Order: sequence, then structure tokens, then C-alpha cells
Amino acid sequence: MDERDFFDETQTVKPARLNCDKCHQVDTYEVRWIVRTKKKVLPSSAGDADRAQFAKARSYMTRIDDFMQCTNPRCRKRFEISGLQSVVFL
Ligand SMILES: [Zn+2]
Repeated sequence: MDERDFFDETQTVKPARLNCDKCHQVDTYEVRWIVRTKKKVLPSSAGDADRAQFAKARSYMTRIDDFMQCTNPRCRKRFEISGLQSVVFL
């Protein structure tokens, strides 16, 4: 059984204050995340190992975007998102 069978998957967008490392301007960016919400019950095909793994599983979100385009019109460069976790447990 795949880990994906344990979760319902949705996408969301959350605002984050990010700092462009080229021009150092801070702005609010819409960062995309995948939200994996733990299912209430396992499918009946689950075995003992799946049940043990499922018991330990927690809902989490994982960041989709690694880069943002700077909103500063004099910069407009792509910069790597730093200072923001890539996985957040819910
Ligand atoms: Zn910039």
C-alpha cells in the first residue's frame, strides 16, 4: 500500500513574507502547497504493516514552489525561497 493511500490530497496557497536575495526587498508572495490530510479510516485492503504505518502517519503540507519571481519592478529576478520550511506538520 502506498503512502498516498493514507492521505487525501489537496492544493492550497498561503501568503508568506519573503526576502529577495538579489535586491533584498521583502514582500508577500503567494506560495503553493500540497496538503495531505490523513484519512479517517484505512481501506479494508490494508494489512498489519499498513495499519502500523497509518497509526504513525500525520497530516502535513509540502511546499510546491522553490522559486519566486521578485515583485520589485527594478529587479524581477527569480530567487530561491529560503527561511520557509518545505514540510509542515498540521
Ligand atoms: Zn529582487
